[in-house]
Amino acid sequence: MTANIIDGKAIATAMRAEIAQNVRNMVEKGITPPGLAVILVGDDPASQIYVRNKKNDCIKVGFYTEEHLLPAVTSEEELKKLIIRLNQNPKIHGILLQLPLPAGLNEKAMLELIAPEKDVDCFHPLNVGNLFLGIPRFLPCTPAGVMEMLKYEKVNLQGKRAVVVGRSNIVGKPMALLLMNEHATVTICHSRTIDLPKITREADIVVVAIGKAKFLTEDMVSKGQIIIDVGQNRVGEKLVGDVDFDRVAQIVALITPVPGGVGPMTRAMLLKNTMQAERLARKG
Ligand code: NDP
Repeated sequence: MTANIIDGKAIATAMRAEIAQNVRNMVEKGITPPGLAVILVGDDPASQIYVRNKKNDCIKVGFYTEEHLLPAVTSEEELKKLIIRLNQNPKIHGILLQLPLPAGLNEKAMLELIAPEKDVDCFHPLNVGNLFLGIPRFLPCTPAGVMEMLKYEKVNLQGKRAVVVGRSNIVGKPMALLLMNEHATVTICHSRTIDLPKITREADIVVVAIGKAKFLTEDMVSKGQIIIDVGQNRVGEKLVGDVDFDRVAQIVALITPVPGGVGPMTRAMLLKNTMQAERLARKG
């Protein structure tokens, strides 16, 4: 039997439609729509696609959007000036600095310059700390997108065994935290984990975020599981996940595809966070 596919693209489309309706309601009431500024430094082709998609998403839902495309030779001082200008711009509620930055620019320092109330990616230490304390202003887009998919599929996480493969600050760690907040029993695995297949086979839910094409193979899963594939790997012209989808889908109960799974949800959550940033700015 082939697993049911969690259609991230369709769920994200529904979320965008709801956001677009909210924006129309705001405009009718004379409220200025949310604004998102996207900054891209350099000419990394994958980043160019991500930035273009995010800009198009904003336009589709009626947000105000600014795209700042800077050359790879941009100095920290120039980038700093731009971020500060955007921090002060009342039309901008969210600022997204596309990563990775070219060598020579200090990612951590640049991210920390973004005003926490405009940090819609939830990368600022203050927002990360609030998330950890259980009082989040924003939820990090990718893990929040995964949670939204599980909610849509009516997955009850309470008491379930969840395994997160990958422990990055952007995906793995916050993913584990959000699953734990919903009362799952969470195990975090990484490159030094011993006997990973045994651990993943015993889980109810496996989230894979490591950046290795088709890493999670059929011998690492078992019947009835939910598999969430966060990975986005370019293999030639194709975008491939961290899961060997064709084989794993024959065994498990629910699975996300790549493309069309977590990726579109991440983008939808960015819009949701920008909405939230505008609401918080207006309500004070
Ligand atoms: P990082 O490179 O920051 O982290 C990778 C993690 O995977 C590390 O914790 C590493 O362990 C672990 N890892 C690497 N190899 C293995 C292995 N053989 N076994 C077990 N664990 C391993 O990656 P990110 O978290 O930033 O991204 C992960 C993937 O998710 C990428 O493909 C990225 O493109 C994708 N991504 C997708 C998004 C989306 O919207 N769909 C958004 C963000 C990322 P250790 O810590 O020990 O080194």
